[in-house]
Amino acid sequence: MLHNLSRREFLMFSGLLALDRDKRKQISAEIQKQDSVSFEEALADVSLRQKYIDELVTENSSPYVEEVIYDNDKSKAFELAVKMSIAEASLDYHIMHHDNKNIKPYDKVIILHGLMRRMDNMPEVVNEAKKNASPEDFGLNEAAMGTLNFSDGYGLGFKSKMYVFNDSFTEWEIETPEFPIKIQPSEEIFKMHLSHEYKHAANGYKGLTINDNLVVSHSDYQNISDEIAHFVEEGSAYLSGIEFSRQFGKNNSAYLLAVDMFDVFMTNEIAKLDMLKINTYEKELMAHYKLEFNKLTDEIKMVRIMLGQGI
Ligand SMILES: [Zn+2]
Repeated sequence: MLHNLSRREFLMFSGLLALDRDKRKQISAEIQKQDSVSFEEALADVSLRQKYIDELVTENSSPYVEEVIYDNDKSKAFELAVKMSIAEASLDYHIMHHDNKNIKPYDKVIILHGLMRRMDNMPEVVNEAKKNASPEDFGLNEAAMGTLNFSDGYGLGFKSKMYVFNDSFTEWEIETPEFPIKIQPSEEIFKMHLSHEYKHAANGYKGLTINDNLVVSHSDYQNISDEIAHFVEEGSAYLSGIEFSRQFGKNNSAYLLAVDMFDVFMTNEIAKLDMLKINTYEKELMAHYKLEFNKLTDEIKMVRIMLGQGI
């Protein structure tokens, strides 16, 4: 077995064996610590970010996430999103022309994954499609992180791919009525965003159970309008970010940012959705998040005051 090790590694290895157990433990803990990347190091050096993410994700893992990829300029997420939409379009075309309408949703996603793999050998097709699309089409422009999965597979046990963008390591700007506020990136903010994305991945895998009487299953998700689906998904993820960030304290910028983002999101969405014709079930979903929003009124007021003072 030892022939695979270089001479230096072998010496270190045998040296460690010569030590007693406690000393060995202490040394290996120190080696690991030295080896690990801090948020500040990842902030300063782009080349360390994937390693930072790998370590963080090992400590705070989600069973619903396939992998978390650092994607500095969003090009990887954009390419995957383009491939996913080509796969969806070609499957839709196939279903339309081959009278395959009874194909089961689960099988549909398996076929979509197969089409994605095939696309790896067709870079021209993907590059051509990329020319006719932009990251904005997939909501990537404003995102700090992104979770990608097929909506056809919602709630059917498929894991998501997650991307972390450069925006997770840059200053945040919050508009207030008086002046814009700058918030510096931090590990707490990073983890808050991660918990937001983990919620999307969990929903994508199991569907969303809001309470005993209100769930969004695979078929519910297919039947609600895109606007309500977006509202429910983001609403639940923003709430998850707030819940998670409370552990850091209400003075922490992660908490302030989480509450502010939910506030801005809900204010915009409610204004938009109030114009929409929605059915009883969609009304129930909307009412739930409006209620959660109202429950947070006092907290939101506090956060607005703190942000108004420039924190
Ligand atoms: Zn989201």
